[in-house]
Amino acid sequence: MPVTPKISDQFEACALCDILIHIDQVDMGAKAHCPRCGNLLFYPRHMSIERTFALSLTGLILFMPANLLPMVGIKILGNHKDGTIWGGVESLYDGGMWGLAILVFLASMLFPLLKILLSFLVSGCLFFERPFNSLSTWMRYLKYLDEWSMLEVYTLGIIVACVKLESMAELHFGFGLYAFTGLLLISGILSGTLDEHLFWQRIDNLQHNADQIPETTLKD
Ligand SMILES: [Zn+2]
Repeated sequence: MPVTPKISDQFEACALCDILIHIDQVDMGAKAHCPRCGNLLFYPRHMSIERTFALSLTGLILFMPANLLPMVGIKILGNHKDGTIWGGVESLYDGGMWGLAILVFLASMLFPLLKILLSFLVSGCLFFERPFNSLSTWMRYLKYLDEWSMLEVYTLGIIVACVKLESMAELHFGFGLYAFTGLLLISGILSGTLDEHLFWQRIDNLQHNADQIPETTLKD
């Protein structure tokens, strides 16, 4: 029978001040802070793996319509033009602002996609208890991507553009905008509700159990 290591058996290092802490089991919903710097160490959240899996799956479904379908349609002097995120990247690139185009592409498309995809893969493996050698690497990259995925910046750009154009043009909001709003909410909730400590603990358990299963069994 697999042995599950208990939190109280381990020392944990604070990510900010590196102090080693021997911590007892933290109750669901309670917060444990570092006694030296006050950094939030543990915040166990109910059904974090299941929630992350469901949210990331929804995020993957919304990603294509959010990026490729028209977000805002602008009608000015009889001319009508639909705006998409990908169209915005292309316009910036064609206008010679290739540096900004790359930044928008990375922060608003590639990094959010990778973040949601990695959330889906990691939570899916944990949910179905499927061990993978890359699980730890995926989890580590997921943490880095959290800081680079900036859908909020693009949202601010859309709001500013809409406010400026409101008085001189007719605006229509497309399905892409609703999908993008959903994606923005999902991205925020994913960052806020992922119980990092639980994920690492479950990854550790999964890999520990996989190491104890004979290779012939894994191949089956
Ligand atoms: Zn600390």
